[in-house]
Amino acid sequence: VGGSIEVICGSMFSGKTEELMRRVSRARIAKVSVEIFSPASDIRYDKSALVSHNAKSIPSKAVEDAASILKLADGTEVIGIDEAQFFYDELPQVCQTLANKGVRVIVAGLDMDYKGRPFGVMPQLMALADAVTKLHAVCMKCGRQAMYSYRLVPNESQILLGEKESYEARCRECYNLDGKI
Ligand code: ADP
Ligand code: MG
Ligand code: ZN
Repeated sequence: VGGSIEVICGSMFSGKTEELMRRVSRARIAKVSVEIFSPASDIRYDKSALVSHNAKSIPSKAVEDAASILKLADGTEVIGIDEAQFFYDELPQVCQTLANKGVRVIVAGLDMDYKGRPFGVMPQLMALADAVTKLHAVCMKCGRQAMYSYRLVPNESQILLGEKESYEARCRECYNLDGKI
Protein backbone atom coordinates (compact mmCIF):
# COMPACT_ATOMS: atom_id res chain seq x y z
CA VAL A 1 0.00 0.00 0.00
CA GLY A 2 1.01 3.61 -0.49
CA GLY A 3 2.32 3.11 -4.00
CA SER A 4 1.96 5.69 -6.74
CA ILE A 5 2.97 6.69 -10.26
CA GLU A 6 4.46 10.15 -10.78
CA VAL A 7 5.16 11.29 -14.33
CA ILE A 8 7.64 14.07 -15.14
CA CYS A 9 7.31 15.15 -18.78
CA GLY A 10 8.34 17.96 -21.09
CA SER A 11 10.64 18.75 -24.02
CA MET A 12 14.36 18.17 -24.24
CA PHE A 13 16.33 20.41 -21.84
CA SER A 14 13.24 21.01 -19.67
CA GLY A 15 14.94 19.54 -16.60
CA LYS A 16 13.20 16.14 -16.42
CA THR A 17 16.35 14.26 -15.47
CA GLU A 18 17.27 16.94 -12.91
CA GLU A 19 13.80 16.74 -11.36
CA LEU A 20 13.96 12.93 -11.26
CA MET A 21 17.36 13.17 -9.54
CA ARG A 22 16.01 15.71 -7.06
CA ARG A 23 13.10 13.48 -6.03
CA VAL A 24 15.35 10.43 -5.82
CA SER A 25 18.01 12.14 -3.71
CA ARG A 26 15.36 13.27 -1.24
CA ALA A 27 14.17 9.67 -0.94
CA ARG A 28 17.78 8.65 -0.26
CA ILE A 29 18.02 11.28 2.49
CA ALA A 30 14.90 9.72 3.99
CA LYS A 31 16.76 6.37 3.97
CA VAL A 32 14.31 4.85 1.52
CA SER A 33 15.69 2.23 -0.88
CA VAL A 34 15.94 3.58 -4.42
CA GLU A 35 16.79 2.15 -7.82
CA ILE A 36 16.96 4.07 -11.12
CA PHE A 37 16.53 2.51 -14.54
CA SER A 38 17.03 3.75 -18.09
CA PRO A 39 16.65 2.02 -21.47
CA ALA A 40 19.78 0.29 -22.74
CA SER A 41 19.01 1.72 -26.20
CA ASP A 42 19.91 5.19 -24.93
CA ILE A 43 23.65 5.05 -25.40
CA ARG A 44 24.38 8.75 -25.14
CA TYR A 45 25.92 8.53 -21.72
CA ASP A 46 27.44 6.17 -19.20
CA LYS A 47 25.43 2.94 -18.87
CA SER A 48 25.76 3.02 -15.10
CA ALA A 49 24.64 6.58 -14.44
CA LEU A 50 21.96 9.11 -15.28
CA VAL A 51 23.50 12.31 -16.59
CA SER A 52 21.58 15.58 -16.96
CA HIS A 53 22.34 18.24 -19.56
CA ASN A 54 24.23 20.22 -16.97
CA ALA A 55 26.40 17.15 -16.28
CA LYS A 56 25.07 16.14 -12.86
CA SER A 57 24.97 12.38 -12.48
CA ILE A 58 23.50 9.65 -10.29
CA PRO A 59 23.97 5.83 -10.46
CA SER A 60 21.44 3.94 -12.63
CA LYS A 61 20.93 0.60 -14.33
CA ALA A 62 20.48 0.23 -18.07
CA VAL A 63 17.82 -2.36 -18.93
CA GLU A 64 16.76 -3.93 -22.24
CA ASP A 65 13.02 -3.87 -21.49
CA ALA A 66 10.40 -2.95 -18.91
CA ALA A 67 10.04 -6.55 -17.71
CA SER A 68 13.64 -6.41 -16.46
CA ILE A 69 12.63 -3.53 -14.19
CA LEU A 70 10.10 -5.80 -12.47
CA LYS A 71 12.73 -8.48 -11.92
CA LEU A 72 15.39 -6.09 -10.60
CA ALA A 73 12.98 -3.99 -8.52
CA ASP A 74 12.32 -6.59 -5.86
CA GLY A 75 12.20 -5.02 -2.40
CA THR A 76 12.90 -1.47 -3.62
CA GLU A 77 10.64 1.26 -2.24
CA VAL A 78 11.23 3.97 -4.84
CA ILE A 79 11.82 3.26 -8.53
CA GLY A 80 12.96 6.00 -10.93
CA ILE A 81 12.71 5.47 -14.69
CA ASP A 82 14.25 7.95 -17.14
CA GLU A 83 13.74 8.28 -20.92
CA ALA A 84 10.49 6.35 -20.58
CA GLN A 85 9.50 7.16 -24.18
CA PHE A 86 12.11 4.63 -25.36
CA PHE A 87 10.43 1.71 -23.56
CA TYR A 88 7.74 -0.34 -25.33
CA ASP A 89 4.08 -1.09 -24.59
CA GLU A 90 4.66 -3.13 -21.44
CA LEU A 91 6.03 -0.20 -19.37
CA PRO A 92 2.63 1.20 -18.26
CA GLN A 93 1.55 -2.22 -16.93
CA VAL A 94 4.91 -2.70 -15.18
CA CYS A 95 4.52 0.69 -13.45
CA GLN A 96 0.93 -0.15 -12.51
CA THR A 97 1.98 -3.51 -11.02
CA LEU A 98 4.76 -1.87 -9.00
CA ALA A 99 2.52 0.95 -7.75
CA ASN A 100 -0.18 -1.54 -6.74
CA LYS A 101 2.45 -3.40 -4.72
CA GLY A 102 3.21 -0.20 -2.78
CA VAL A 103 6.18 1.11 -4.79
CA ARG A 104 6.56 4.85 -5.50
CA VAL A 105 7.31 4.92 -9.23
CA ILE A 106 8.74 8.14 -10.69
CA VAL A 107 8.83 8.16 -14.49
CA ALA A 108 10.46 10.85 -16.64
CA GLY A 109 10.19 11.11 -20.41
CA LEU A 110 9.53 13.21 -23.51
CA ASP A 111 5.81 13.82 -23.93
CA MET A 112 6.23 14.75 -27.62
CA ASP A 113 8.62 13.72 -30.36
CA TYR A 114 10.34 16.27 -32.64
CA LYS A 115 7.19 16.46 -34.78
CA GLY A 116 5.03 17.33 -31.79
CA ARG A 117 3.37 13.90 -31.73
CA PRO A 118 2.68 12.14 -28.40
CA PHE A 119 5.71 9.93 -27.82
CA GLY A 120 5.41 6.15 -27.37
CA VAL A 121 4.02 5.00 -24.01
CA MET A 122 4.03 8.49 -22.45
CA PRO A 123 0.30 9.19 -23.09
CA GLN A 124 -0.65 5.89 -21.36
CA LEU A 125 1.65 6.61 -18.43
CA MET A 126 0.24 10.13 -18.04
CA ALA A 127 -3.30 8.71 -18.01
CA LEU A 128 -2.47 6.14 -15.33
CA ALA A 129 -0.42 8.51 -13.18
CA ASP A 130 -1.38 9.80 -9.73
CA ALA A 131 0.38 13.05 -10.61
CA VAL A 132 1.80 14.56 -13.80
CA THR A 133 4.37 17.37 -13.84
CA LYS A 134 4.97 19.10 -17.17
CA LEU A 135 8.25 21.01 -17.25
CA HIS A 136 9.31 23.65 -19.78
CA ALA A 137 12.66 24.58 -21.26
CA VAL A 138 13.75 28.01 -22.43
CA CYS A 139 13.04 28.78 -26.10
CA MET A 140 16.39 29.15 -27.88
CA LYS A 141 14.90 31.69 -30.29
CA CYS A 142 13.00 34.07 -28.01
CA GLY A 143 13.54 33.08 -24.39
CA ARG A 144 9.92 32.24 -23.61
CA GLN A 145 8.74 28.89 -22.16
CA ALA A 146 9.45 26.07 -24.60
CA MET A 147 7.56 22.81 -24.91
CA TYR A 148 8.83 21.53 -28.25
CA SER A 149 12.07 19.73 -29.14
CA TYR A 150 13.00 21.21 -32.51
CA ARG A 151 15.24 18.99 -34.63
CA LEU A 152 18.10 20.88 -36.26
CA VAL A 153 19.30 18.11 -38.55
CA PRO A 154 17.55 16.57 -41.58
CA ASN A 155 16.57 13.10 -40.32
CA GLU A 156 13.02 11.78 -40.38
CA SER A 157 13.17 8.86 -37.94
CA GLN A 158 11.23 9.26 -34.69
CA ILE A 159 14.22 8.21 -32.63
CA LEU A 160 17.44 10.08 -33.22
CA LEU A 161 19.67 10.17 -30.17
CA GLY A 162 21.18 13.58 -29.86
CA GLU A 163 22.03 16.63 -27.85
CA LYS A 164 22.44 20.35 -28.53
CA GLU A 165 23.94 19.65 -31.95
CA SER A 166 20.68 17.96 -33.06
CA TYR A 167 17.89 19.60 -31.05
CA GLU A 168 16.88 22.91 -29.56
CA ALA A 169 14.00 23.80 -27.27
CA ARG A 170 11.37 26.07 -28.83
CA CYS A 171 8.08 27.69 -27.84
CA ARG A 172 4.94 27.04 -29.91
CA GLU A 173 5.38 30.15 -32.04
CA CYS A 174 9.07 29.66 -32.85
CA TYR A 175 8.52 25.94 -33.44
CA ASN A 176 5.80 26.70 -36.01
CA LEU A 177 7.85 29.51 -37.58
CA ASP A 178 10.03 27.17 -39.58
CA GLY A 179 8.50 23.74 -39.55
CA LYS A 180 10.86 22.68 -42.29
CA ILE A 181 14.63 22.63 -42.15
P1 ADP B 1 15.96 16.88 -19.73
O1 ADP B 1 16.17 15.59 -18.97
O2 ADP B 1 14.53 17.38 -19.64
O3 ADP B 1 16.39 16.78 -21.17
P2 ADP B 1 18.08 17.86 -18.04
O4 ADP B 1 17.55 17.70 -16.65
O5 ADP B 1 19.05 16.84 -18.52
O6 ADP B 1 16.84 18.01 -19.06
O7 ADP B 1 18.81 19.26 -18.20
C1 ADP B 1 18.28 20.47 -17.75
C2 ADP B 1 19.42 21.51 -17.83
O8 ADP B 1 19.75 21.76 -19.17
C3 ADP B 1 19.07 22.86 -17.28
O9 ADP B 1 19.25 22.95 -15.89
C4 ADP B 1 20.09 23.76 -17.99
O10 ADP B 1 21.31 23.79 -17.30
C5 ADP B 1 20.36 23.04 -19.29
N1 ADP B 1 19.79 23.67 -20.50
C6 ADP B 1 20.38 23.70 -21.70
N2 ADP B 1 19.60 24.27 -22.63
C7 ADP B 1 18.45 24.63 -22.02
C8 ADP B 1 17.22 25.26 -22.44
N3 ADP B 1 17.01 25.64 -23.72
N4 ADP B 1 16.25 25.45 -21.52
C9 ADP B 1 16.44 25.07 -20.25
N5 ADP B 1 17.57 24.47 -19.78
C10 ADP B 1 18.57 24.24 -20.65
MG1 MG C 1 16.75 13.71 -19.52
ZN1 ZN D 1 10.15 31.21 -28.95
